[in-house]
Amino acid sequence: MATHGKNGKARTNGAEKLIELRHITKQYMNAAGTFTALDGIDFEASTAEFVAVVGKSGSGKSTLLNMLGGIDTPTSGEVIIDGTPIHRLNQNQLAVWRGKHVGAVFQFFQLLPTLTVIENVILPMDFCHIIPINQRKQRAIQLLEQVGIADQAYKLPTLLSGGQQQRAAIARAQANDPLIILADEPTGNLDSHTADATLQLFKDLTIAGKTVVMVTHERDVTAWVSRTVTLADGKVVSNSAVPNNREATYALA
Ligand code: ADP
Repeated sequence: MATHGKNGKARTNGAEKLIELRHITKQYMNAAGTFTALDGIDFEASTAEFVAVVGKSGSGKSTLLNMLGGIDTPTSGEVIIDGTPIHRLNQNQLAVWRGKHVGAVFQFFQLLPTLTVIENVILPMDFCHIIPINQRKQRAIQLLEQVGIADQAYKLPTLLSGGQQQRAAIARAQANDPLIILADEPTGNLDSHTADATLQLFKDLTIAGKTVVMVTHERDVTAWVSRTVTLADGKVVSNSAVPNNREATYALA
């Protein structure tokens, strides 16, 4: 579990780069033969960075994100996260690792519709057993307060707006205090005002020490992110830092 120092920054195992992908190739076999989705990619992210992965549809963005989350394994190359070579873990080890180190946010929120919002946030805590059982409800309320929807805690997700559902998903992603938040097109189903507020939430998380890697293809996110990595045909074609002056709207406890 990530712990927090006096300055509120996430404390890691001390690896210089929190995320390192080295020469990652991912090939899929299909009827037409072998398709190369990622073609020898190098990718890095440091603690508290907000990295946007951009590029056209089919350029390999989601495949890259799946490598970072241990959801998919590379055909060749190394995925080293906080010093752990996760490409060497088996499926059971990966599931445990993922629960502790990664929180995920999706375009269509993926909240369980039969559970209340607070039950959705508690669920990853119940799976991972990191947060003591008698602290889970209180932590869930705290996380919902931080994203501004504590008053919606006991509703079913379908009664919430899209923006509120995405806030609930962001609270859920932090359930086990992971170092890394991975977000796949998190604003793709939101109006522009709500999308801006969601991006600001991610930005706030990075100010509090989390590392956010976000895939997006449809909007200019340079006002929020610290770096943009552009993919084309499974290759990194640009990697540029973005000057960023926006202030946090809240600080994580
Ligand atoms: P993006 O997120 O940039 O839209 P993806 O990473 O989803 O791109 O996909 C990159 C390419 O890999 C696409 O051409 C896609 O069809 C192919 N691809 C992705 N997953 C699979 C899979 N499981 N089997 C075969 N091809 C796949």
